[in-house]
Amino acid sequence: MKKVLLLGASGSIGSQTLDIIKKYPEEFELVGFSVGKNIEKAKEIISSFKEVKNVYITSKTNANELKHQYKNIRVFSGKSGLNKLIHQTDFDQCVDALVGFVGLEPAVEVLKKNKILCLANKEALVAGGTLINKLLDEGKGKLYPIDSEHVALAKCLSKCDIKDVKSLIITASGGALRNVEISELSKQTPEDALRHPTWKMGAKITIDCATMMNKGFEIIEAYYLYHFPLNKIRVQMHDESLIHSAVELNDGTLIVDYGKPDMHEPIRWAMFEGKSDYKVYFVKALDEFKDCHFHDYDYKRYPCTEIAKQALLEGASKMIALNAANETAVNRFLNHEIGFLDIAKFVGKKVEKQKLIRQPSLSQIKRIDKNARKVN
Ligand code: NDP
Ligand code: MG
Repeated sequence: MKKVLLLGASGSIGSQTLDIIKKYPEEFELVGFSVGKNIEKAKEIISSFKEVKNVYITSKTNANELKHQYKNIRVFSGKSGLNKLIHQTDFDQCVDALVGFVGLEPAVEVLKKNKILCLANKEALVAGGTLINKLLDEGKGKLYPIDSEHVALAKCLSKCDIKDVKSLIITASGGALRNVEISELSKQTPEDALRHPTWKMGAKITIDCATMMNKGFEIIEAYYLYHFPLNKIRVQMHDESLIHSAVELNDGTLIVDYGKPDMHEPIRWAMFEGKSDYKVYFVKALDEFKDCHFHDYDYKRYPCTEIAKQALLEGASKMIALNAANETAVNRFLNHEIGFLDIAKFVGKKVEKQKLIRQPSLSQIKRIDKNARKVN
């Protein structure tokens, strides 16, 4: 039985993680969790999971309400509250399903405690990939990704010899605006960009899918997780999100992870540390999957992916700026303060301006992040 700490329990990945914990009561027990603002969800989780001992909620007022209602539960809040939750909870495995940069420090703390980290929060790897890999090299902590493409790659890579691999193929749906004429993109509203064709997810990642910054982030994730250079990681546009990613071998064989788009499966894979059953397919060409449609990646339509690739080529501090500027721009777009195409413009400028630091410490990462968020 593993004791699980779940960060971001009120979100899309968080809720699906709760489903997995419920489905396997012999394997997992929820001992602590965090929410941001959603106090109703916090109460619901406390009522359903009787082993919960520690909870984090952002505001002090909400924390006081929970403390008053649940006398046997410790409630943390405020800036240092997430760290306290991690250090004062007795857990084996942490699922980090926070969204944005706020997910990095908890990921670092979990690895410093030599625990198992199931990481949905891709921003942690984008902004802190070098630091996270250093902690993994030096400590006993373990990392399992939750992002579906990276779970797919792990499954495919487990079925071959690394020296036979020619490239990693990351599939991309193209997001909500994939069929909109490029000349019309500037007029797209947040509501338009939030209508993802194949996945139901939190707002921030759904916008990242529309700009395909998400695919840029996933290239960076693949780089840090599997240690392949950028020229061996390629993007394949694929409409239905049935192929989650693939590995191409030197002899032309493709190893493919194919199945319905449902995040429960990658979450389950990560929580079972890759030891659960799964199936991959060996084919000669992707179009052997008759229900799948493919297109070429169009870099003009998706400047954010290109900016992310360039940041990866340059080094760590550029990726921190990339992530921070993107968070700011996406929030402003969601608040109707800037247009859709302004996201790429803002991020591109911030990345360009950022001074290069290749191996920043956590405090340097925080400083760079803070600066790159500034609007002017
Ligand atoms: P959601 O927006 O649905 O959930 C985010 C969670 O983080 C919520 O619990 C939210 O709390 C909490 N949160 C947000 N800001 C803060 C903060 N400042 N302090 C504390 N908690 C906070 O996001 P998703 O579940 O969609 O995504 C989570 C992560 O997983 C992201 O990094 C995303 O890129 C990645 N991912 C998501 C996928 C998906 O299918 N959704 C697929 C692959 C990766 P509250 O709502 O209570 O305020
Ligand atoms: Mg993904």
